[in-house]
Amino acid sequence: MRKIFQLYFAFFLLFNCGELIPNPDDNAQNIKREEPKIERTNDFAIVIHGGAGTIKKENMSAEKEAEYKAKLEEAIRVGHAILKNGGSSLDAVEKTINIMEDSPLFNAGKGAVFTNAGTNELDASIMDGKTLNSGASAGTKTVKNPINLARRIMDDSPHVMMAGDGADSYAKEQGLEIVSPEYFFTEGRLKSLERAKDREKVEMDHDDNQKAAFYDADIKDSKYGTVGCVALDKSGNLAAGTSTGGMTNKRFGRVGDTPIIGAGTYANNATCAVSGTGWGEYFIRGTVAYDISAMMEYKGSTLEEASVEVIQKKLTNLGGTGGIIAVDKNGNMMMEFNTAGMYRATMDDKGELNIEIYSKKQ
Ligand code: ASP
Repeated sequence: MRKIFQLYFAFFLLFNCGELIPNPDDNAQNIKREEPKIERTNDFAIVIHGGAGTIKKENMSAEKEAEYKAKLEEAIRVGHAILKNGGSSLDAVEKTINIMEDSPLFNAGKGAVFTNAGTNELDASIMDGKTLNSGASAGTKTVKNPINLARRIMDDSPHVMMAGDGADSYAKEQGLEIVSPEYFFTEGRLKSLERAKDREKVEMDHDDNQKAAFYDADIKDSKYGTVGCVALDKSGNLAAGTSTGGMTNKRFGRVGDTPIIGAGTYANNATCAVSGTGWGEYFIRGTVAYDISAMMEYKGSTLEEASVEVIQKKLTNLGGTGGIIAVDKNGNMMMEFNTAGMYRATMDDKGELNIEIYSKKQ
């Protein structure tokens, strides 16, 4: 009897198991496979900065604050309109930066700071996240809008970067707007240079009282006034651009992070677009913009995690000051800095505008 039962049980298993244990292939046929949907926070988005630094509320008049905010708004609206109408992120970045370059408020184009030799030497770069093409110019003295030159170098030359006289003459050859070096003269920037030179003298003389007075004056200078823009367009293409006069009293010939792809500017459709502002030497040593993208690419970090890690830990531990703006491939926006303030604004696909100057801690 026991044998019969065992035999029966063996047959039962043989013929029924197929039904009891689901076959993964059968299942695969029954379930309709759907491509995983990438939830985009924004279909398109734009972020700008007008420099980071010792921007203190108590040192800012209501009129000046309103002036900065109005210019940031004017600039970001230009780029936003381009994106809304289906234009490219590269065009949005370039045209937005042009508005800030033409304003004396920012340390880029018209408002560029002076070198120790009393000259204005401008740097800029732009990057296309779709192709990883990029263009950069360093130390130009006659190009009204250096971001346009960076774009032209990217689009129409076999090179990525041009510097000095060669870059100026390429701009002229290409029919870009050329100005005399005096165009970049502004009284305010000259005063900043004089203050920086006095400070340098005092530091060398070790006179503590005077030193304190000059540091006070320094606080009134916002220090870094570079402009930058990052954008995501409706086609999912990212772009980043940055333009600057560099740092007040920099040695003539000095080149900062702004025209260095990976340091001050980076864009990659697989990750994000980043533009930086701050003490350029540290941004170069920390390859700040690329580092944020690399954390997302290799470690799977979110834009927020990568930005906080790179600015608040890596850059800060290195002794660097400044910040970044960024947008990722899904339209998430970031503005991260370790200074008292950063002129900045965001605008999303619903047209919601956010303009800020000071750090939340102020
Ligand atoms: N990063 C720029 C430079 O070092 C300065 C700035 O951001 O204002 O040239």
